[in-house]
Amino acid sequence: MLNIILCGAPGSGKGTQSEPLVRQFGLEHLSTGDVLREEIKSGSPLGQQIDALISRGEFVPDEHMIKLIEQFLDTRADDCKGIIFDGFPRTLNQAHALTELLNQRQLNAVMIDLQVDEQEVIQRLINRGKTSGRSDDNEATIRERLAIYHQRTQPIAQYYRQRGNYYPIDGNGDMQQIAERIRQVVSRLV
Ligand code: UDP
Ligand code: MG
Repeated sequence: MLNIILCGAPGSGKGTQSEPLVRQFGLEHLSTGDVLREEIKSGSPLGQQIDALISRGEFVPDEHMIKLIEQFLDTRADDCKGIIFDGFPRTLNQAHALTELLNQRQLNAVMIDLQVDEQEVIQRLINRGKTSGRSDDNEATIRERLAIYHQRTQPIAQYYRQRGNYYPIDGNGDMQQIAERIRQVVSRLV
């Protein structure tokens, strides 16, 4: 199994670039952000709590996210060619927990880090906000998400680098060119 942690700032193209990976390599795509937005849509009390956090650009607590990942692994990891983790882990604590969950199942993961200029991601998110209807795609929340990303998520790169499982990709420019950069890295790993 080839499990990929697709990491990168908000607006770096994780969701977009997951699509060709699913098509080319038959991987399962797990977007934790999408799962959380489904919970919000359901209108449950939990969804309402999650909505409040996301609208402020804050993270859903680690314990909740780790449980969600564990459930996904238990129900979907068998007979699958690999998983793309899109949006998880977001904290070092989550990264440690993921290693543990994967180890227990004799699995591992590599990190692909989409590196995009700050001005470019801000512009992409502002554009996305015009149609996405997402409560977090407004300029104030975008800035908050980026600050939290630098503070809490970026340190994870070092963790995977030290484990020899780290692949940075230039995520600026044309979507198809970026997809090709990722494809070249992934095809050497499968
Ligand atoms: N979120 C979270 N944990 C996750 C995934 C998402 O707390 O594992 C929350 C967080 O508030 C984040 C928001 O959901 O800012 C949107 O996540 P998503 O991955 O969809 O946004 P992206 O970073 O791709 O723009
Ligand atoms: Mg996304």
